Amino acid sequence: MSLLRSLCSSKSRYLSSFRAFSSSRALNVVGFDLSPEQTEVRDLARKFGREVILPAASYHDKTGEYPMEIIKQAWELGLVNTHIPSKFGGLGFNVFDCALISEELSYGCSGIQTAIEANGLAEAPLILFGNEALQKKYLGRMTEEPLLAAYCVTEPGAGSDVANIGTSATKQGDKWVINGQKMWITNGGKANWYFLLARTDASAKTGNAFTGFIVDADTPGVTVGRKEWNMGQRASDTRGITFDNVVVPEENVVGEVGKGFKIAMGAFDTTRPLVASAAVGLAQRAMDEATKYALERKTMGSPIAAHQAIAFMLADMAIGIESSRMMVWRAAQMRDAGLRNTYYASIAKALASETANKCAADAVQIFGGNGYNSEYPVEKLMRDAKIFMIYEGTSQIQRLIISRTICDSYKN
Ligand SMILES: Cc1cc2nc3c(=O)[nH]c(=O)nc-3n(C[C@H](O)[C@H](O)[C@H](O)COP(=O)(O)OP(=O)(O)OC[C@H]3O[C@@H](n4cnc5c(N)ncnc54)[C@H](O)[C@@H]3O)c2cc1C
Repeated sequence: MSLLRSLCSSKSRYLSSFRAFSSSRALNVVGFDLSPEQTEVRDLARKFGREVILPAASYHDKTGEYPMEIIKQAWELGLVNTHIPSKFGGLGFNVFDCALISEELSYGCSGIQTAIEANGLAEAPLILFGNEALQKKYLGRMTEEPLLAAYCVTEPGAGSDVANIGTSATKQGDKWVINGQKMWITNGGKANWYFLLARTDASAKTGNAFTGFIVDADTPGVTVGRKEWNMGQRASDTRGITFDNVVVPEENVVGEVGKGFKIAMGAFDTTRPLVASAAVGLAQRAMDEATKYALERKTMGSPIAAHQAIAFMLADMAIGIESSRMMVWRAAQMRDAGLRNTYYASIAKALASETANKCAADAVQIFGGNGYNSEYPVEKLMRDAKIFMIYEGTSQIQRLIISRTICDSYKN
């Protein structure tokens, strides 16, 4: 009897502590709510995206004029170079906070957001792998005035196949001499400096064959090509750049000589969640525009939103947007927690970029004939969306990374 009593009382103690645990878990296991500080940052970016960027988006799309004035304003507000550590004058935001910002800026115009975010891509290898002197010199100047930077990896002959790039750097005394051609470089004509990947050992395997450099854009031998007229994101400046006997001091090597492949690719764990969040911003804009239009436009006696075919397109947009945003948050939070997030960053990038394309194409469909016309906002969204499936690793390359991770986990 006493044994039974003691069993019952320990069971009830166990149950009550389990209940307390499970109710606290229900509240705390995964935080989907933003902190007051994150809400403030998100709201500032939202206001800027909707009140400053959005009204200017059509002008920059039609003219291709670089949005320098907007970038300067964003820089003044602290919405540019957000992940530069505070010791170099930056805000030192984590990837999650940066994702909140990039989604909101992209809502206004993903071309202008790309111009801003290209700085983050160029800076990422330096932040992650550079020594303090190099960081101080090149990150410090970005916080002192509104400058641009660019990430120079892709070449005319090699994009996805990074290990096949042909740009070389040869050591001559205490200098490196760079020769080669880069292509599709965002901010190529506006950058103050470039992060550049070059082959430094012709016979070594990929992991030891490349080195990352910081190259001042005004170095003799650097020739910037014409601004490319792309399908979308026309506010952004995309160019080819030629490097002809460009001399770079030894101290401009980022990280270790020979380890450039890992350095250039390692940056994507930080930047892919941000590209994905920008795609979410575009998708959200497409859904908002489509919903407003569907509630106003009437056919057969009712708003088109009342036709199930249209309503379900809106529902599918919401499904894609909500799930993409969650993947962005997961990939970003893992990175911020110091965990390996490559797999999640690839899922976020593939999912969000394809969601953005689907949402933009469906928004055009919902607008009907008006959707196909440049007086309405959604055809631009459809053109802008495509690049999300191409830059920073195509959707096929993301699937390569994801499938390799799955297969490797079964082999181990
Ligand atoms: C507007 C714009 C801005 C850009 N900005 C930058 C920048 O700032 N810095 C920079 O370095 N680069 C930049 N890029 C380059 C971009 O990252 C590359 O275009 C992209 O990585 C694809 O490379 P690619 O164009 O050479 O295509 P390819 O690599 O030739 O690919 C062609 C097609 O084949 C597929 N494919 C290739 N390999 C495989 C494979 N192994 N398995 C399955 N499918 C495969 C690809 O997915 C794609 O569909 C930019 C590009 C554009 C258009």
